[in-house]
Amino acid sequence: MLPLALAGLAVALVWVAPRVLARRTSLRRSPRAALAAWQAASLGGVLAAVSVTPAALPAVLGREGVADHPGLVALALLVSAAVIARLLVSGHLVGTRIRSARAEHRALVDVLGARDDHGVVVLEHPTPTAYCIPGRGSRVVLTRGVLDALPDDQLAAVLAHERAHLRARHDLLLEFFTVLDRSVPPMLRSPAALAEVRLLVEALADRAAVRRSGAVATARAMVAIAEGRAPELGMSAGTSAPVRLRLIAAGPHSALSVVAYALAVLAVATPVGLLGLAWL
Ligand SMILES: [Zn+2]
Repeated sequence: MLPLALAGLAVALVWVAPRVLARRTSLRRSPRAALAAWQAASLGGVLAAVSVTPAALPAVLGREGVADHPGLVALALLVSAAVIARLLVSGHLVGTRIRSARAEHRALVDVLGARDDHGVVVLEHPTPTAYCIPGRGSRVVLTRGVLDALPDDQLAAVLAHERAHLRARHDLLLEFFTVLDRSVPPMLRSPAALAEVRLLVEALADRAAVRRSGAVATARAMVAIAEGRAPELGMSAGTSAPVRLRLIAAGPHSALSVVAYALAVLAVATPVGLLGLAWL
């Protein structure tokens, strides 16, 4: 029963949870807690999937029989190891590609722009754009257009937004979900999941901007640079602008945070508990 429960849980967390979470748009008002729930659901799904075969052993052989069949135990662990190896290889490939593209981009903006002591690079371009290049030697990239168009408080909001991305390593969070997305079979993938996580990361950085400059200045800054095209992580809101503006106006919702954190704990604790039960 327990291996079946774990398999069911894996499907629920990998396939059902992203579809349910992506539809719960009210969670966007607690982006930090919502991101915790997203991460926990993904992690719990992987844990449940790799636990199915180890949990099946005592059920198939009887608890005493496990010691008599070292070959089967090794095979079961090998199946789990294969799932983990697939994840690691996928992670390595995604990470290498992202880091090399980023290093190229950083070298390019360093040649084209003027960098100050705080890691801010200004590009002489009229389009108002702001974004950041995360990782080692991170940069905040601003165009002359954004410096000319925005008053001080809005510019401070933009910088607070970009620095929040860099400080909290939102790039790693997005990388984590990209890796998970690549490593599940295409039919199980949920394109809405990655889009929702991206939106939540932006909403979280918007919070930092609101704390710095207030909701009005943040919203104005977003509108001013909404046309700019920013790679990866940027203040540029693009198609999510109306949603993010509404979230800035609505403010945080602490009761929803509690629910999201509780779900997060449950998503990770359940597979661990079920595997423990199988071996008790
Ligand atoms: Zn951003």
